[in-house]
Amino acid sequence: MERYADILIIGGGLSGTMLAVQLLRLPLQQRILIIEPRAELGRGEAYSATELGHTLNGNAARMSVDPDNPDDLTQWLTTYIADGGWPESADQDVPISELFAPRGLFGVYVQERLAQAQVVGARQGSTVAHVRAEVTDLQINGGEVQLTLSDGQHLRGSRAVLATGMFPAARTPQTHSSGLNAAALDPWDVAAMRDLDPQSTVLIIGSGLTMVDAVVSLEQAGHRGPIEVFSRHGLLPHVRRQPPAWVDFLGEDFSISTPRQLLREVRRHCRDAIAQGVDWQAPLDTVRGHIARLWSQATDVQRRQFVRHVRPWWESHHHRSPPLSAELIERLHSEERLRIHAASFKGLESDNGDVVTIRIRPRGQIDTCLMSGAALINSSGIEYDWRRVARPLPQQLLARGLVQPGPLALGIAAVEGAVVDAEGRVSDRLFAMGPPLRGMWWESTAVSDVAAQAKALAGRLVNNLRD
Ligand SMILES: Cc1cc2nc3c(=O)[nH]c(=O)nc-3n(C[C@H](O)[C@H](O)[C@H](O)COP(=O)(O)OP(=O)(O)OC[C@H]3O[C@@H](n4cnc5c(N)ncnc54)[C@H](O)[C@@H]3O)c2cc1C
Repeated sequence: MERYADILIIGGGLSGTMLAVQLLRLPLQQRILIIEPRAELGRGEAYSATELGHTLNGNAARMSVDPDNPDDLTQWLTTYIADGGWPESADQDVPISELFAPRGLFGVYVQERLAQAQVVGARQGSTVAHVRAEVTDLQINGGEVQLTLSDGQHLRGSRAVLATGMFPAARTPQTHSSGLNAAALDPWDVAAMRDLDPQSTVLIIGSGLTMVDAVVSLEQAGHRGPIEVFSRHGLLPHVRRQPPAWVDFLGEDFSISTPRQLLREVRRHCRDAIAQGVDWQAPLDTVRGHIARLWSQATDVQRRQFVRHVRPWWESHHHRSPPLSAELIERLHSEERLRIHAASFKGLESDNGDVVTIRIRPRGQIDTCLMSGAALINSSGIEYDWRRVARPLPQQLLARGLVQPGPLALGIAAVEGAVVDAEGRVSDRLFAMGPPLRGMWWESTAVSDVAAQAKALAGRLVNNLRD
């Protein structure tokens, strides 16, 4: 059976779900289908978390999904907690706006906002349905989008949106060939970690927020042995604090455009802040609002400079750790149970089921060396280059010339959410949002990015449907 929709949303994580919420709020009758293999909408990888310790990395005041109401999550949590939900929130002993909520609970919040929007949408005859499958192919024929699904079904629609999220690096062919994926434990799989000898050594590749989650999972699973963390620069995420407001210096000086100028100004303001007894996070947080403009105005050379020289620093200073997780990392570090090595991963040497051995090259050295442990966790991040993503849809879209890689091959190219094909034509049928647009905006992943993009794209789609 073929089904038809005005808007086909491919992917039902935070992006796809928030887009549906925003579309349902608009005064136009629409049939929306969200195609998502997971059982529940609104969760994706991030908000499917089941551990209370896997929390958001920003407090409730920063994590509203409603760009028109920054207090939306705080208000939702206030009611949820008053009704007896999340009793453990009392342990944080802070006002609700400053709570760092479990990511699984955030998924419930997103789902409630969808349910409410469905009631609003139903009044004007708009509907949303969840089709549980993976989209394996997409074609545009005769002004219509046609989807092929993993279960053999076909769907047709007037417009389609790629809300396919992030593709973990571990699931790409590059790392498959090194055997890493097969050997590695899932960073969030606490049950699998319970099978480990609690005193055994665990190796972790990558030192960003996924590593932080993995350490939380190990602790939760009762692991008490050494944890050896390897990353190229050996930088840990800083802890997120609640800095006061700081002058929006980039908003006042549009002459700053190169990565070098940016770094110089940010450092200067951080020094000034520290000299005045203000947290350095205050000036840094003002930069966030300008990153999309700076990135989109930059040349490819400047973007490359940023990625090569500023990125590790930006990741550890900007993508900060929730306080409770940071406390755990700090404690394990001071107990010398967790050690951070500045070293690059060169490959999986052997894995006999009991002992896994990896080859690493310490930073600044020519020689490599071996490290062994009872288990390996790969938290080395995301594959943004669609040419390397071993999933059928990205491969098909590239092969059909319906998309082209974005700047620096990060995601795909688009103009205000409308996808650009291999010939450089801007589509009026195919759109994208969230992580696939990393190359267009640099930051295109966090809750605040996704929420803002969902609102803007919904408006654009509805105008587009009216034309
Ligand atoms: C572990 C983790 C923790 C995070 N924590 C935070 C945080 O604390 N704060 C913050 O601001 N941001 C956080 N983020 C970033 C951000 O909020 C998430 O990445 C967000 O989930 C992005 O939503 P998305 O829907 O675009 O992508 P995803 O959540 O990745 O969802 C995409 C969905 O698309 C589906 N899909 C993919 N391909 C297809 C296909 N071909 N057919 C059908 N469906 C498909 C997938 O099954 C998936 O469910 C986190 C991200 C991760 C991974």
